[in-house]
Amino acid sequence: MKMADHYLLGWILASVMGLFAFYYIVYLLVKPEEDNNRRSLPQPRSDFVKTMTATNGECRSDDDSDVDVIIVGAGVAGAALAHTLGKDGRRVRVIERDLTEPDRIVGELLQPGGYLKLIELGLEDCVEEIDAQRVFGYALFKDGKHTQLAYPLEKFHSEVAGRSFHNGRFIQRMREKAASLPSVKLEQGTVTSLLEEKGTIKGVLYKTKTGEELTAFAPLTIVCDGCFSNLRRSLCNPKVDVPSCFVGLVLENCRLPYANNGHVILADPSPILFYPISSTEVRSLVDVPGQKVPSVSSGEMANYLKNVVAPQVPPEIYDSFVAAVDKGNIRTMPNRSMPASPYPTPGALLMGDAFNMRHPLTGGGMTVALSDIVVLRDLLKPLRDLHDAPTLCRYLESFYTLRKVSYIHMHVLMLLQLE
Ligand SMILES: Cc1cc2nc3c(=O)[nH]c(=O)nc-3n(C[C@H](O)[C@H](O)[C@H](O)COP(=O)(O)OP(=O)(O)OC[C@H]3O[C@@H](n4cnc5c(N)ncnc54)[C@H](O)[C@@H]3O)c2cc1C
Repeated sequence: MKMADHYLLGWILASVMGLFAFYYIVYLLVKPEEDNNRRSLPQPRSDFVKTMTATNGECRSDDDSDVDVIIVGAGVAGAALAHTLGKDGRRVRVIERDLTEPDRIVGELLQPGGYLKLIELGLEDCVEEIDAQRVFGYALFKDGKHTQLAYPLEKFHSEVAGRSFHNGRFIQRMREKAASLPSVKLEQGTVTSLLEEKGTIKGVLYKTKTGEELTAFAPLTIVCDGCFSNLRRSLCNPKVDVPSCFVGLVLENCRLPYANNGHVILADPSPILFYPISSTEVRSLVDVPGQKVPSVSSGEMANYLKNVVAPQVPPEIYDSFVAAVDKGNIRTMPNRSMPASPYPTPGALLMGDAFNMRHPLTGGGMTVALSDIVVLRDLLKPLRDLHDAPTLCRYLESFYTLRKVSYIHMHVLMLLQLE
């Protein structure tokens, strides 16, 4: 099939799917109210949902009459969402467990598609002033041979590229930007359960830094509490798979064979990644199959890295890799994947890793979260009053359909680009 045929086919497919989505969403938005009575929280409820009567009288409630949206968690998804909804004039209250700068080995390479979403959300300046590095593609290594695959960015502005950085610095920039809006209130607290009344989520129960137990109420609660989410249990069917773990190291004084590229070593038994996270540091992530990794404290992990992994890394990186192992700051993180399987629930929505996870080798988690935020922002735009519960409920339900269509569309375009 010729290139032009691929474009034509893609265009037809995208148009048909777009039309289908349009009609389905119109149907959801106008279908009779009786339908809503059938929606209720799935049974059995999890321990992380409390009915309002159970908490009445036990806790003090703030004055929440002026809050439109509660966001649980201010990581990549929560912080970006808070800024987006706040900028749209929503009164947002964000409750985050720990407001200090995160120090993690996750979410360090934002794909160009994610950078485009940052631009759409007006958040692209959050990758400035954090020594973020531009990423133009991937270098692939196997059995001593290597090649480079550039992102197809020719049609875009020169600023458009991947970005790699310290995840915590990126999150702090987004938190600061969100908190600078008068309509956004960002506070430290750990949400312990969702509050439910007659099948609708009305708010959350949370503990402050000092251990005080408080409630917060809003017509919409968006749960963005990340990959270890407890709160999602009542809002989706979490089927989490952990196929492997990533072992993380930071290499110093190291020049990668292909500057400004991610490096994927197709090693035995599984891949090794390298990419810059600042002008002086390179992140290495070693995939270790299974859920149990060699023990770090006993030195078993250092032996594994030196004897099994190091001989497979490109010679230019070898010394820095071994030096990083010797330095000892070895960190591990399970690689999780979880398909989106929501129970549409009045008054609540899931976002980010709490909702949906893919293997981190794809480097797509942040892009998906940012893309979902764009979908939600555009969907909610016409609905000025979130206190109109039945209408909000119909909008939330259509979010799950819309985001699927957005992904099929994105995948069709990706296929066309790869041809
Ligand atoms: C090893 C690894 C490497 C990865 N690398 C990449 C990559 O290169 N590129 C990419 O795009 N994606 C990557 N990902 C995926 C990416 O990290 C996630 O998709 C992204 O961080 C999801 O953002 P989030 O906001 O949902 O979760 P997080 O960023 O984890 O944020 C969750 C927030 O919720 C807070 N929280 C948790 N519980 C509560 C509570 N009860 N009350 C209040 N607050 C709470 C947490 O403190 C945290 O701030 C990687 C994942 C892993 C595991």
